[in-house]
Amino acid sequence: MKTGNRVANTGSNSRNIIDHIISNTTTIEYMKLKEIKSFLEGMAPLAVQESWDNSGLQIGCSDKDIHKVMVCLDLTEAVLDEAEAIGADLVISHHPLIFKGLKSISGSTYQERCVRKAILSDIAVYSAHTSLDNILGGVNHKIASLLGLSSLRWLDSGESAEGCDEKCGGAAEKSCGEGTEGKCGGATTEKCGGADAVARASGSGLIGELKEPVAAAEFLRTVKTIFSVKALKHSPLSSTTTIRSIALCGGAGAFLLPQAVAKGADCFISGEFHYHDYFDPGTLLIELGHYESEQFTQDLLKESLERAFPELEIVKTSVNTNPQEWLI
Ligand SMILES: [Zn+2]
Repeated sequence: MKTGNRVANTGSNSRNIIDHIISNTTTIEYMKLKEIKSFLEGMAPLAVQESWDNSGLQIGCSDKDIHKVMVCLDLTEAVLDEAEAIGADLVISHHPLIFKGLKSISGSTYQERCVRKAILSDIAVYSAHTSLDNILGGVNHKIASLLGLSSLRWLDSGESAEGCDEKCGGAAEKSCGEGTEGKCGGATTEKCGGADAVARASGSGLIGELKEPVAAAEFLRTVKTIFSVKALKHSPLSSTTTIRSIALCGGAGAFLLPQAVAKGADCFISGEFHYHDYFDPGTLLIELGHYESEQFTQDLLKESLERAFPELEIVKTSVNTNPQEWLI
C-alpha cells in the first residue's frame, strides 16, 4: 500500500524553521482514488457486470487524494450529509447513483441533488453493483455464508465465459454478439479470449446446500431472523416440507426463477419477486425485501477495503437507506 506524507511548505530556508517543521510534521495517510478504483475493479471487474448496469466511478477525478471512505448500499442525501460531517472524501455504494443518463442537474430529483452535493462537497462516488454481485466472494456469496451453505454453484453460470469459449474459439468478437449479449456486451475480446480467469469465475445467483434438511416452517423463521426481516413474504408451504437445496440472489432475482426450478432448488431466496411469480412458482419463494437481502454488502465492501488498505479509515454509513416501511 502506498501512503503519502504531506509537509506544510512555509517557503523558509531557515535551519531552525526546517527543524521545527520536521519535528511537527503531521503524517496524513491517503490513497489516490485511482488506486482504490483499481483495487475495486480487480476484485469486481466491470466486465462481469450486467449489460444494463452502470458500475464504476461515478463522480471524481482519479488523481484525487482519499483519506476516509464511507460505504453504503444506496447513496442518498442523508448519506452524503454524514460523509461530509465525518470528512469522508469517497463514498462507495452498491447501487449506482447515476444509473441512466442525467439530462440536467437542476435538483429536481434526489439523484440530481446528490450529484450536485457530491461535487460541491468534493466527495467522489464509486458504485460496485452487478460487478460485485457476479463474482466469487461477492454479494451472493455473502448471503450464502450467512445461511451456512456449501457446494455452491452459479444459478446462471455466465453464458459469456463457458458459452464464448465454445462459440468463439479464435474468433471471439464475431461469435459473441450472438446469444451472449447480456454478459459479453462490449467486453467480448477481454472475456472471450479465454484468458480472463476472473470473468470465467463469474455468474448470476447461487445454489447451495444446508448440511442437514430443515423443516420449511423452521427455515423461514431462521431466515427472518438472520436478515432482520419484519414480515417475511413467501409462497404457500403446501408442497414444501423440508429445505436443503437453496437458490438465492440478492436484490431483484426474479429473472433467475427458471434456473432455480431447473436446478431443483427446494426454495429460492431473493430480495424481490413479481406478484405473478407466486402462481405455481415450482419452488418455495422467500422474499426478503431488496434492502434486507443486500444489507450485508456494506460489510463485504468494508472488510475487503480494510484488508487491502489497512491504514485507510473505512466506515459504514449509519443511515438506514431502506425506502420501504411496514405497518405491522
Ligand atoms: Zn440491489
